[in-house]
Amino acid sequence: MVEEAYICGLSWAIKLTEDAVAVNDRLCHGACDKPKREIDVSSMGACEDHVRSTLMHELLHAAVYAGVGPAWPEDEEVLITGIETPWYSMFRDPRNLALFQKFTEGVFEVTLAKQKGKKHARGGKE
Ligand SMILES: [Zn+2]
Repeated sequence: MVEEAYICGLSWAIKLTEDAVAVNDRLCHGACDKPKREIDVSSMGACEDHVRSTLMHELLHAAVYAGVGPAWPEDEEVLITGIETPWYSMFRDPRNLALFQKFTEGVFEVTLAKQKGKKHARGGKE
């Protein structure tokens, strides 16, 4: 199955497979081919929650690449692994759904537009 994710407006192909995924001849649960903008996630031997977590992990790699390109420091894997669990828990928690819908529906932009011209409560610049 191939899905798509959009990061900074660019499409990334997401391939969910029951086959193993190999990176440099090493089998793993997921891979992010940054120049090709392709993510592979394997469900082989993994529970559904692990597949989702792996997808989130690979999306974080893609987001880093979209943000800073190939110039990311060597410890990218350490950073991504550290962010993965809390980031995944945020997306997985249904209590955050309303907030995420506001992001995609542009509610924040409407609210900010209404506030334009009003003084910020904290006295900051507009
Ligand atoms: Zn990784």
